[in-house]
Amino acid sequence: MTCCVVGGGPAGVMLSVLLARAGVKVAVLEKHRDFLRDFRGDTVHPSTLRLLDELGLGRLPGPELTAMRMRVAGETVVAANVGRLPGRHKHIRMIPQWDFLDLLAAAEPLDLRMGTEVTGRRRTDGRVTGVTYRDSDGEGELSADLVVACDGRDSVVRQAAGLRPDEFPLPMDVWQVRIPAPAASTGSAGGSRNCSAGTVRCSTRSGRGTTSSCWKPRWAGRRSGMWTVCCLLCLGDAAHTMSPVGGVGVTLAVQDAVAAARILAGPLSAGRVSTQDLAKVQKRREWPTRVAQRTQLGEHEILLKPALEGTLTRVPPPLRAVQRFPLLAVVAAYLGGIGVRPEHTPAFARR
Ligand SMILES: Cc1cc2nc3c(=O)[nH]c(=O)nc-3n(C[C@H](O)[C@H](O)[C@H](O)COP(=O)(O)OP(=O)(O)OC[C@H]3O[C@@H](n4cnc5c(N)ncnc54)[C@H](O)[C@@H]3O)c2cc1C
Repeated sequence: MTCCVVGGGPAGVMLSVLLARAGVKVAVLEKHRDFLRDFRGDTVHPSTLRLLDELGLGRLPGPELTAMRMRVAGETVVAANVGRLPGRHKHIRMIPQWDFLDLLAAAEPLDLRMGTEVTGRRRTDGRVTGVTYRDSDGEGELSADLVVACDGRDSVVRQAAGLRPDEFPLPMDVWQVRIPAPAASTGSAGGSRNCSAGTVRCSTRSGRGTTSSCWKPRWAGRRSGMWTVCCLLCLGDAAHTMSPVGGVGVTLAVQDAVAAARILAGPLSAGRVSTQDLAKVQKRREWPTRVAQRTQLGEHEILLKPALEGTLTRVPPPLRAVQRFPLLAVVAAYLGGIGVRPEHTPAFARR
């Protein structure tokens, strides 16, 4: 196998579609049997919508969100105005992640191995040369020129390769609970959402007893940081788990995948992918990731922390400035919805 992608989330599926369109032999190993899983957010931002256009995938169904409003100290404030963004997509599309993944995976015939859980990595002469896995037939091994870890925040592959993330604590996290529901319950209301027969999912925020933290990339010597070792690359949440604030996790994961495909398709096709090529992906995506993380930390500090501590008695000055100067609400929407250094679908994958 030329490329083994571990994990069929937004990063893994997007990368696989792009590499498949470049003619690279790629397999995706996904531990679940389908994409229907716990709530992972419903937002698809303008930068991703534009990529879907470029891939020729057409319009996503679902409601549109054109502004982000919040109640702060008794006032309704607009935090981001997506409706005035440049380009065709002046909205965030609300669509369950499993529908988004179904659509993406159908874009190209993929070697998508569902129900295949990666258990570790193969190593030969100090290089990562593939993965070990477990599926319904038992244990197996898959050799690959390149392994891409897209297996999310608790990435098994990253851990097996000895890459350790830097962690920093957050004042909040999103918890989920499953509550048995009457069989007749349908539709969604408030923070609760109907899932499948017999269960209701609801997400709640907690400021106490938080259990997880947000990872930022560790840059050992700044060039061989946590995203890569020879020949393994981490993308999306596996490289940089984001806070739920602003719902930018999918955007960054997808952008990572597009940058990786553009940079690596040539070397992979030629059978000569190198650590320098992997470092180029890391270098390309380091800055946008850091900007998003810094922005989120600021949002925690000025808004979420005081809100959770009960000290948010007035609209914080930065948010007040956004109300006074409406263009700032467009800038905020640009940072969240398009981001710094947005990626475009490479020519070989456009339809
Ligand atoms: C409650 C919640 C709400 C969120 N809301 C939003 C939102 O509104 N907007 C937004 O943009 N982001 C949101 N996020 C973040 C977003 O879900 C992630 O940032 C995004 O999904 C990351 O994509 P990924 O492909 O890197 O990883 P993931 O989506 O985590 O995908 C990883 C995949 O790897 C698979 N996998 C894991 N381990 C293995 C293994 N050992 N072998 C094989 N497969 C494996 C998993 O099953 C999964 O399919 C939310 C997250 C949570 C938890």
